[in-house]
Amino acid sequence: MHWYEMKLGGRGHTDSAVSQVCRPDRIADVPKYLEQVGKNGIIVRGSGSSYADQAINEDGAVMMTGRLDSIRSFDPETGELVCEPGVTLRAITELFAPRGFMLPTATASGQHTLGGAIAANIVGMNGHRRTSLARSVNWVEVLLADGTAVRASETENTELFKAVVGGQGLIGIIIQVSVTLLKRPADNVVVERRRTANLNELTEALKSARKTADFCYAWLDTSARADAVGRGVLTTASFTRDPATVPWFSMPKFKLPLPHFFLRLAATPFFKRLRYRLSPADGKTVEPYEKFLYPSDSVRYFTHRGVYQFQASFSEAEGPQAIRRILTEMAQTRVQACRAALVLTKEDTLSYLGSALRGYTISLDFIRRKGLDDFLKHLITVAGEHNGRVSVQDDALLEPRNLVLMYKQLEKFIKVRDAFDPQKKFDSNFGRRLFAKERKNEQ
Ligand SMILES: Cc1cc2nc3c(=O)[nH]c(=O)nc-3n(C[C@H](O)[C@H](O)[C@H](O)COP(=O)(O)OP(=O)(O)OC[C@H]3O[C@@H](n4cnc5c(N)ncnc54)[C@H](O)[C@@H]3O)c2cc1C
Repeated sequence: MHWYEMKLGGRGHTDSAVSQVCRPDRIADVPKYLEQVGKNGIIVRGSGSSYADQAINEDGAVMMTGRLDSIRSFDPETGELVCEPGVTLRAITELFAPRGFMLPTATASGQHTLGGAIAANIVGMNGHRRTSLARSVNWVEVLLADGTAVRASETENTELFKAVVGGQGLIGIIIQVSVTLLKRPADNVVVERRRTANLNELTEALKSARKTADFCYAWLDTSARADAVGRGVLTTASFTRDPATVPWFSMPKFKLPLPHFFLRLAATPFFKRLRYRLSPADGKTVEPYEKFLYPSDSVRYFTHRGVYQFQASFSEAEGPQAIRRILTEMAQTRVQACRAALVLTKEDTLSYLGSALRGYTISLDFIRRKGLDDFLKHLITVAGEHNGRVSVQDDALLEPRNLVLMYKQLEKFIKVRDAFDPQKKFDSNFGRRLFAKERKNEQ
């Protein structure tokens, strides 16, 4: 058993903590490490791509799952894949795409581990077809605080399952996963990109795209004001047997993170207007599916300043009004997002700590600067006023009172956590930030 001290941070560089870190080589070693955990508990960490404090644990322990990446079995008849939690989404795609299979959720990045993606209950570019990854998970095997391993699914140990998926590692360690991969209808996708002049046009275009497109998401121009608020570029993609077209220009993939300057550039109104105007009014290409997938991985940024993510889900009825208000307030206060996206989600999440609602999910990244915390806390209040749910998975600023207001199944999550981990052996900075009151009451 080997532990070492290490400073770890979130991908957004807003939070970091020094912890005792272990990296088990085999699943059989995981319970042995668990026995050695001290008073500040342990949190498990996949690829560490959550933005804030979800996978860090100040003065406590952190277990990295990167080496727990074995594939246990694959059934080509049913598509059932059984594997360890440290396998990345990209590795699954690279292994199984040549055999004609794909992951059920198409995320923006392939860096996430399967364990981390389930613990965050991720939503993808096909959220209008499959709300979140949890819906395609057959079962998870979870190592609990008392060292026992339990299988949970939508039909077996259901409450445990609903707390573990989207549970941010606070219930136990996912040590094995069964997920059904989908048969891919074709190798290529026909990708259509089209500008929309305002939010009405964009939401209508998204709603009509969900009837036919396999994937759809929109980029938002957050510099647009007045009648143009919510304008953007809608990207849709559907499988096709047509051959791939050779583009006259294709975005180069940057291996090294780009310096902070480029991130700042992406947040300027000038860049946004340029991007909007240069986007085709109506463009179509045929691309290999693997090229279309994981768009966020083509460019990475290095930033010392830190990036906050604000992601909120709204019902179909409240969504347009809430999103208009958020974008209008951003434009009025000249707060620019360096990344802004809108997707549709098919149904309410099944996970107790999940945020997705049937309707819209808006996702905004902001470079940290003076006064931004207060503005984002205000946006959290705005989301609450529109019966929205701010996602916990990459957030740094939610407070316990926000959770109580937004998460109707919060009590159930707390009950499962109390039942399976009364001593809070699984804990993190995130856990202490949002469930501190619960802890104080116990002491
Ligand atoms: C570039 C980029 C693109 C993204 N795209 C999307 C997207 O398209 N859709 C979306 O929904 N989200 C997206 N995210 C955010 C995403 O939700 C999380 O960052 C990701 O799922 C975390 O995976 P990870 O392996 O990095 O987990 P980590 O960041 O290491 O951990 C995330 C949480 O999962 C827990 N966890 C990790 N492994 C386990 C395990 N084995 N058992 C129990 N708990 C575990 C951790 O304790 C932590 O609370 C994106 C983030 C980035 C940086």
